[in-house]
Amino acid sequence: MSELHKFLFDGLPVRGMIVRLTDAWREILARRASNTATGAYPPPVAELLGEMTAAAALMQSNIKFNGSLILQVFGDGPVKVVVAEAKPDLSLRATASVTGVLPADARLPAMVNVHGKGRCAITLEPAERLPGQQPYQGVVPLFDDQRQPLTKLSDVLQHYMLQSEQLDTTLVLAADDQVAAGLLIQRLPTKGEANLAANAEAAAQGISLEDQIGLNEDYNRISILASSLTRDELLGLDVETILRRLFWEEKLLRFAPQQGMLGPKFRCTCSRERVAGMIRGLGVQEAEEILAERGDIEVGCDFCGKQYRFDAVDAAQIFTAGTDQVPGSPTVQ
Ligand SMILES: [Zn+2]
Repeated sequence: MSELHKFLFDGLPVRGMIVRLTDAWREILARRASNTATGAYPPPVAELLGEMTAAAALMQSNIKFNGSLILQVFGDGPVKVVVAEAKPDLSLRATASVTGVLPADARLPAMVNVHGKGRCAITLEPAERLPGQQPYQGVVPLFDDQRQPLTKLSDVLQHYMLQSEQLDTTLVLAADDQVAAGLLIQRLPTKGEANLAANAEAAAQGISLEDQIGLNEDYNRISILASSLTRDELLGLDVETILRRLFWEEKLLRFAPQQGMLGPKFRCTCSRERVAGMIRGLGVQEAEEILAERGDIEVGCDFCGKQYRFDAVDAAQIFTAGTDQVPGSPTVQ
């Protein structure tokens, strides 16, 4: 069963989270494998997608936000786009589009950053958007401050979180064909009253939160412990064993694990109405061209594999009725 655990390091300005996706991740892989048009993901793509799905679940849990967190990598190589979406109830979905052939051991640069133009975007889409309100989006390149290409997704996201939240974050991610998992350790801005005072004092001296990056000894120690977690351990060991092995000298305050109905699960939010909205977005002319050519408009959901078919009558209805409805997003159905 997929599960997410949150914990605090007692008395220290550090928190952590670990996610382990089993049934939810296998469902995502199985749906893709049963798609006769695409077939299963090549192993390196599945690994990246699994890491992104685990990371999306961690990042969604790490923020208090009523809406979708969408993690996307736009590639300039054989992998064009990789998307993982996590909702506040930890329902997850993910997909990737692959156009080229990949070496079995392909890493991030060979998949999505061949010409240095790959990008990672983090989008927060409010559940209920006000008219004219745009979703928040942060975009980071796939190279470091010295313009060296990053080979690991965790490095890209750590970089993003440092920039966007000014908080040190350590991420360990891994995925295979059975499990997608991740560990997140983050420095908290304050630890109780004493630290508030320290922060106020620091602020008075013109030292910002940003200046504390990398300087907290407790965080640094815990980060080194977390980084020692290997891929095989993260994928193969249960959560209790991982936490005991890494942090046996630390005092952890554990929250009730989120699993089952409250835990991470696969769920697609596509619907016939949203696909109709997308077709409306194409415009009458293009829709009629497709109808003339193929007889009907068929749209498959990349996330869950469901096929939606609209014949000429359905299409006519789309364009006569409800023209005041908001068109669906073409990328995230
Ligand atoms: Zn779907």
